[in-house]
Amino acid sequence: MAQATRTADEAAEKGGRPSALFIADHPALDFLNSHATPAGRPIEWLADGADLLDWQVAAGMVTPEVAKKFRAHPALDAIAAEARSLRAWLGDFVRRHAGAPLPAKAAAELQPLNRLLAKDESYARVAADAAGQLHLERPRRWEDPEALLQPLAAAVADLACHADFRLIRRCAGHDCSLMFLDRTKAHARRWCSMAMCGNRAKAAAHRARQRPD
Ligand SMILES: [Zn+2]
Repeated sequence: MAQATRTADEAAEKGGRPSALFIADHPALDFLNSHATPAGRPIEWLADGADLLDWQVAAGMVTPEVAKKFRAHPALDAIAAEARSLRAWLGDFVRRHAGAPLPAKAAAELQPLNRLLAKDESYARVAADAAGQLHLERPRRWEDPEALLQPLAAAVADLACHADFRLIRRCAGHDCSLMFLDRTKAHARRWCSMAMCGNRAKAAAHRARQRPD
């Protein structure tokens, strides 16, 4: 039993790495946070193809069955490299535009995204949902591992089209690089999470108050 627990812990911390973080309240920003510096230590969660599959399953972007299909594919590491390039481009785009409404002219900067979206092989079909209501859905054929880039591209497209860029922020934690979309009612979110940065900041403020002058 102890052995099984240790194995699970090791799986969660591949190479001393914590589990991937999904704190951004938007999948494209979670994708951006797949390379981040929480608590001052840079962590790469998309180091290779296996990482990409694990992250996409954890993010709910691909099913475990799709991940299994591509896990031994020789092109998988190259696809992960393309994902990291897309993420680097997204990071530049978000840093340039976060804090202000995204202007229509920003569409001109989206060619790398549009080139990727143009390769999408999803198709439309009508199906019944759980409530018995018919709806149009867009499944993918998943014939080539390149298709793994499409849910990432779709998330980035959703960010560009639907997110309020005024509410995209970086965590206020010292040395924390995590980004999020502040969907709170008061738009007063400051931290990636209370557990990681909020409590540390509160403790530091408390110590500062206790310090004699
Ligand atoms: Zn933080």
